[in-house]
Order: sequence, then C-alpha cells, then structure tokens
Amino acid sequence: MNRLFSGPIAEKGHSLNPPPRHPAPEDAADRKQIEPVVCYPIDTFEPFNRSLYDELRSDMQLVDEVMVEPRDAAAFSVAAGQFFRITCPDGPQVGDLNLWNADNLDERFFSGKARALHGTHLGVGDRMWSNLPYLRPLATITDDTLDWYGFDEFGGSVHDVIGTRCDPYTNTLLAGNEYHYCCHSNLIRALAAHTGMTFEDAEPYVHDVLNVFMCTGFTRDTQQYFMKASPVRQGDYLEFFAETNLLGALSACPGGDCSNSHSSEAAQCYPLKIEVYQPTNPLPDNWQPAEASTYSRSHGA
Ligand SMILES: [Zn+2]
Repeated sequence: MNRLFSGPIAEKGHSLNPPPRHPAPEDAADRKQIEPVVCYPIDTFEPFNRSLYDELRSDMQLVDEVMVEPRDAAAFSVAAGQFFRITCPDGPQVGDLNLWNADNLDERFFSGKARALHGTHLGVGDRMWSNLPYLRPLATITDDTLDWYGFDEFGGSVHDVIGTRCDPYTNTLLAGNEYHYCCHSNLIRALAAHTGMTFEDAEPYVHDVLNVFMCTGFTRDTQQYFMKASPVRQGDYLEFFAETNLLGALSACPGGDCSNSHSSEAAQCYPLKIEVYQPTNPLPDNWQPAEASTYSRSHGA
C-alpha cells in the first residue's frame, strides 16, 4: 500500500517557511515529476500468516486484565506466544503504547523503522520492530476493529507511527506552563512503578510510541501533523501477538479522543484496558520467539 504518496502532492512549505529566495532551475519541473519509489520494499518478508494467528486466537483464555486510568499509564507483561488487546471500555480514548523486550529493556519499539517499513499508520499484519542492533518483531498486529477506517478524505488514519507522544517539554516550549500528565510522564511513572526505577532512571527507556486509536495525518498544504476525533468507540480493540516476552506500558492520553487539545485538563478522558490472552492450543512446532538481527556488527572493520 502506497500510503505515503496518497493524495494530491502538496507544495511543501508554502505557509510555514519564508518564500523561496533561490530561483527554480530550468529543469525544475522535470526534477519534480520524477516518480517516487518505496524506500523499503518489504516483499522479501515472510507474508503475514493470518490463518495461523486466527487459528490460535479462535480459542484463547483471558489470563490478565490491566486498567489504565484516564491521564495515567499502566505497565503490563505478556509472554511470548500470548495475545494482548488494547481495548476501549468506555468513551472514545486514544492510547500511547511503549513496548520492551521484557528480558532486556534496552530493546524497545522502534517507531521510526516501523514507519519506514510499514507506512505512516500500522494495521493488521504489521510488526512492532525493535531498535538497533536487535531489529526484530516484538509483536505482530493480528486484529483491529477499526480496520474499516482506512484513510479518510483528509489523509487521516488510525494507529500512527508519525507522531511521538505528548510530553511536558514540548508543552513548556509551546504553552509556557507545566503539565504533568502528558503521555511521556505517564509512561515514566508506570515504568518506574513497575521496575522500582527512579523517574530519572526510567525516563531514558520511554520511547516513541504507537498512537493507538489516534486519528492523524499531515495537512496537505503545510505538511503539518494533524489529529482529529478518533473513530474509536466502546468495545473496539487493537490486538497483538507477542513474538517475544514483552513488557508494555500504555498511557491514556490527556487528549482523550484527540479531537481538540492535549497536554492539559481540557479534554474529556476515559480509561483504556489491556487484556492478555493465552491460546488454548499449543503453538505450532516450528514457531520460535523472534530472533534478533543476524548482522555481524562489524561495520566495515
Ligand atoms: Zn498523549
């Protein structure tokens, strides 16, 4: 799916940057007309084996539930081979998800590479890749009750990896006041509570998120990151299969459904819930937890 190039090509920077001061060269039109190519074609990946996951998920038992209170976060654990769902149990609410390898917190979700490989928004069959030098799928998205949404007329879609997470530093920069319940701070508190780390020690482990249920895109004229009211409703969920042992943390964003504002007390916020499921039937014999990259790490030496 060629998501990055969908829609009319905007004239970048025509309202946010000063007007150009360098004249366009004679062949400017030719240069601009060159067709784009996808940076990272993924046709060498093993195709998403939907029937395998569907068979496992057709018979599974709920083994854990974790509530995430509004404007707060909670940590949760999932064993390799289990499924977990991020569910919307009440009103429309978006969540900011961090994932770590439970056995090594230095290995965490790499939102930038997930974006480069899968596109601006993640969906069923996409993988939650980990950072370098590991670069393995921490989890695979196996179901999404918002899969019908696709892309809207504004270029918006759900579950993006283009934003980061709301944080008190950017809020201080833009608004000039302190707000302590941004997703960044919520995730720090949750990780610290779960691990016993101080906030200072926990903060570097908090990373760019998957924006679960959030509906976002780029404005066509100025290419600015936009959000709009999430289409999520009570009962919706996004489901993952844990490809390795996972520690997760989920923040219920102070933006609520992100229709208007975040980083303040202004929005109506609701809880989120994480459900962990154990498949009843054993995993296939040939299934193994995902392995880290086999690159030699010689870097040319
Ligand atoms: Zn947030």
